[in-house]
Amino acid sequence: MGVHPLLPSRLVASGESLSDVLDRTGSPNDALPFLFKVLSIGKTLSIQVHPPAQVAEMLHAKHPDIYPVADANAKPEMIVAITKCEALIGFRPLREVAGIIAHIVPFAELLGGEVTGAIFKFCAAGKLPRRNAGDDSDQQAEALVLRQALETLSLRRDKEAVAEASKKVQALVNVDLQLKVPGVAAEAINLARRIGCEHAEDDLGVFLALLMNFVELAPGEAVFIPAGVMHAYVSGDLVECMSSSANVIRAGLTSKYRDLDNLFLSLSFDSHPPRFITPRSEPTYRLSKGSAPVSVHYDAPGNLFSVQVIRLPSTGDSIQMGPELRPSILLCTRGEGRIALSLVASKEQGEALGFGTVHCIGSRTSATITNGGDESLICYRAYQRMGCNSLAEEGGGVSDPMFCLMTLWSGTSKLRFYDNIMVPSRCHNVS
Ligand SMILES: [Zn+2]
Repeated sequence: MGVHPLLPSRLVASGESLSDVLDRTGSPNDALPFLFKVLSIGKTLSIQVHPPAQVAEMLHAKHPDIYPVADANAKPEMIVAITKCEALIGFRPLREVAGIIAHIVPFAELLGGEVTGAIFKFCAAGKLPRRNAGDDSDQQAEALVLRQALETLSLRRDKEAVAEASKKVQALVNVDLQLKVPGVAAEAINLARRIGCEHAEDDLGVFLALLMNFVELAPGEAVFIPAGVMHAYVSGDLVECMSSSANVIRAGLTSKYRDLDNLFLSLSFDSHPPRFITPRSEPTYRLSKGSAPVSVHYDAPGNLFSVQVIRLPSTGDSIQMGPELRPSILLCTRGEGRIALSLVASKEQGEALGFGTVHCIGSRTSATITNGGDESLICYRAYQRMGCNSLAEEGGGVSDPMFCLMTLWSGTSKLRFYDNIMVPSRCHNVS
C-alpha cells in the first residue's frame, strides 16, 4: 500500500492511482514517503539487504534486468507482529556462532579451518579483561571475522557441496535430538532443519541464516531494521512499514537471483541485538472499564514513519485519529465498524470498516473510527509523525483539498493475506 511507481495503490471506485490523486489534489511529491504491507509468511522469505541509493543506482545501470528500479531512498523498515513471529535480523555475536559450529560440523566444514580458527581465536581473546570503555576495537575485529565468514560462504558456488552439507545438517538433527545440545546450537539445528525443508538443498541461505540473530516477536512487539542490515522473515503474520523503495539485494532462501557478489557493497557487519521499538501509548484513550490502552504508536527512529495500532473492544467504542500533516493509510485486520471524517455528525456516515479494508486518510484530516460489531475492532495505521501541533495554528486544515477519505480496498474474507494490495477506490470529498 502506497505510491511506489512499480505498484501504486488504486482507488476502489475509479481505479485511479493514489499517486495521481495526491498529485491532482496538490499534495507534495513525498506526501507518502512509506510503503505499508501485510505479510503472512508461509515459508521463510528471502535473506536480503537494502542498499543505499548510490549502490542501487550502480546496480540498476549495470543490470537493469535484475534491478529494474533504483530508488533514491534507502529502505529501513519496521515490523509489528500481529501473531507470534520469527525473523532473522543482523549478525549473531561470534560467541554464538562458535557454539553453533562446535555442534554443526557440516557448517564448520563449509566455513573451513581458517574461518573457524579465526572465530574461536576471537572468542578466546574475548575472555581477557575488557579494554577501555568505549573502545570499539573488539567490535571492529568481530565485524572483520564475520565478513571473512560470509565471504568464504559466498564463494561456495559448488552447489553439490552446499547440498551435501545441507543433507548432513538434516541427518544431524535426528541424531542430536537425543543429545544434550546447548540452547543456541539446538535452536540453530532446528532452524536449519525447518529452513532446509522449505528451500532448495543447494541454497546457501540455510547456512547464512546460522550466522544471523534468530528473533521471536510476541504479538504487539515491533523491531526496526536499518538499511544495510541483513534480514529475513521466518514465520507469522505482521505489518511492515518501510521507506518507499524497492532497492533490494537478495542473498539466499529464494529462487530469485541471489547476488552474493554485490551483497558486500551495502552490508553492515556489526553484530548488534535487534532494535525493538517500545510503543508509545495514548493515556487519553483508555477504556472506562479496563486499563488496556486503546491505541499505541510505534515510531521508527527519526520519525521516518510510525504505525498506530488501534483496538476498540466493544460495540460503540470509538477513537479519533490525526490530523497529520501528511496522508496516512489505515488497514483493518479484525472486526466491523465505520470510519468517518471527524466533522461528520453521525457515526452512521462514512465508510464501512471490516476484515481487510484499507483507507487513505487525507492530509490534515482527522477521522473517527467506531466499532459496530460484536467483537474487537483492530486497525493498523501507517503515518509520518511531523509536527502536528502546527496544524492548529494553520486553522486545522478544514478547507484543505486533501480533506478526504479514500477507500483503497473494499474488504475481503481472505485476509490471509496479500503483500501487495493493488487496489481500487472511491475518493469522498466530504465537507
Ligand atoms: Zn526487507
